Amino acid sequence: MAIWRTLVRLLRPRVRLEPAVARLGRPRLTLNDAGVVRCTACALCAASCPSHCIDIVAGSRLPHDITSGERMAQTFQVDLARCVQCGLCVEACPVDAVRLDGALPAHVSDVQTLRLDLEALKII
Ligand code: SF4
Ligand code: SF4
Repeated sequence: MAIWRTLVRLLRPRVRLEPAVARLGRPRLTLNDAGVVRCTACALCAASCPSHCIDIVAGSRLPHDITSGERMAQTFQVDLARCVQCGLCVEACPVDAVRLDGALPAHVSDVQTLRLDLEALKII
């Protein structure tokens, strides 16, 4: 019987541990076809961030921008100095509004430049 147990264990499909995201980089916010940020300010990314480095203030979307929900981020800040590149914010977002594929800075002379605001987060 022991040999069967060993065979079954050997033939069982292996569980592969995949990284949360395939490519790491600076967090950035994605835009919809109208060029407006997809983010609906639900704050799920901020709630899932283990480093508490995401800070969002929700506001109303302008009427002509209502293409993906009525709310949007009035302010959205990520403190890159505290981001550990875990990808949990990407996983948590229900509308694919945040990705980790922005360019990371090659060097930093002032830590304040790592506090990324809404405009900085739109840049790839
Ligand atoms: S990658 Fe992780 S640490 Fe960085 S902002 Fe997203 S959830 Fe926070
Ligand atoms: S980026 Fe996604 S998860 Fe974060 S507040 Fe915006 S819609 Fe919600």
